[in-house]
Amino acid sequence: MRTRGARAAAWLLAFLIAWTCPRSVADAFGEFTIRDELELARKFDLIIETRFPVIEDTRITGYVQSIVDRLVAAMPPQPFPIKVTVVKNGALNAFASAAGHITIFTGLITNLDGEDELASVIAHELAHVSERHIAKSIEQSQLTGAGSLLGILAAVLVGSQGGGEGASALALGTVAGAKAMQLKYTRENETDADQYGLGYLVDAGFGPGGMVGAFEKIRKLQWMSGGGDVPSYLSTHPGVDDRVGYMQERVARLPKTVRERRSDNAEYERVKMLVHAWYTDANSALALFSAPARSTCQDRLGRAIALSRLGRADEAGKGFSEAMACNPSDTLWKREYGRYAFEFGDLATSARLLQETVLRDPDDLYALFFYARAVAEQGNYASSVSAMERVAKAVPRDSEVLENLARYQAALGRGFDAHLNYAKAFAYKRQFKKYAFHLDKAESLAAGGKDLEKIVQVRNEVSEYREILGI
Ligand SMILES: [Zn+2]
Repeated sequence: MRTRGARAAAWLLAFLIAWTCPRSVADAFGEFTIRDELELARKFDLIIETRFPVIEDTRITGYVQSIVDRLVAAMPPQPFPIKVTVVKNGALNAFASAAGHITIFTGLITNLDGEDELASVIAHELAHVSERHIAKSIEQSQLTGAGSLLGILAAVLVGSQGGGEGASALALGTVAGAKAMQLKYTRENETDADQYGLGYLVDAGFGPGGMVGAFEKIRKLQWMSGGGDVPSYLSTHPGVDDRVGYMQERVARLPKTVRERRSDNAEYERVKMLVHAWYTDANSALALFSAPARSTCQDRLGRAIALSRLGRADEAGKGFSEAMACNPSDTLWKREYGRYAFEFGDLATSARLLQETVLRDPDDLYALFFYARAVAEQGNYASSVSAMERVAKAVPRDSEVLENLARYQAALGRGFDAHLNYAKAFAYKRQFKKYAFHLDKAESLAAGGKDLEKIVQVRNEVSEYREILGI
């Protein structure tokens, strides 16, 4: 279970910011219903998943989602549940897209200082959603009608196959594509989003100083961050220079107790450590956690993880022992040591630590994934299948998860399920001959109508996936 996806193309982001279309749009368009938008949002999930390296570690995603949930509770009711995706990318960026979908880049987590700053950027994005800026922009550009919106989606899909900036929707010559290029936030949108965002931030109990701090940091760091061809936050959200001063004034007018509020950053720092340790360059991570000033227990864990990623098994083992010694009962420490023990062949230690983690944190997908693998290696396939099934339910298109699950099911003699999951695993690895082979096998083993229904469902899912990839 690794992060996946291809490198993001810059222009695609430019479209994605243009993808918030809440109820007002549906109303204005008449035929473009909430159901259409949810369908569009579901396809967008697929696009994000196939185009970006999406982070699946629930310790990271769960934390970011918890910030979103707190902010959403302070917002007016929204027509869609707000969902957040965290993408592995060093750029300082975030954007809102279809049906209340927010995407956050890991560069924000590694570069910002504290929960209030991260919450500020998210609050700003949520304000673009609640204020329907994109919906209004769509209306102004006369991109009316579900047909046009679906046209933009098609343009994004087809265009993304080129993988480069030359593959813009404009090059396709579609009217919808050309119009989509005009959709972007205005300076006025930005000021509005700052104002409403600050309101949500304060009402949700975060410290408002984070708003100023985050934007100052983004302004300062954007040129240094390793975003590659992905545009920085500033190019998709204009006018930050003026806005910082304005926000400072607004914050200064808040009551002293609110103004001086600071969030507890303990959880933020843990997540930041995990992101540094796992999702930045391993050598840089090792250097960071080995710096003389970095000697907390958390730094020790980060250092051990970096060493294990570099394959320096003995040093990593020593590092994990030291980290465990200073925080022996924390399930994050147990999980990471359990992962290391699995990868370097100590199955008994691995299974014990991961089981303790899974019992305490049943939603920790990585703990479940490695627990399933560790007990399978010990021959306990019944436990490994039930754990891996839970993982597969949460990340249904992860081929590594599906392949492991299929293997354990085969070991238990569940031929139909095994072939069905092998079929899916190969489809999502884009090996369609092997997909067809296993689907045929599954079909020949189908025991009744319910099994046949499952096959039809897999066929539909895979053909939609291929349609979205254009293969
Ligand atoms: Zn903005």
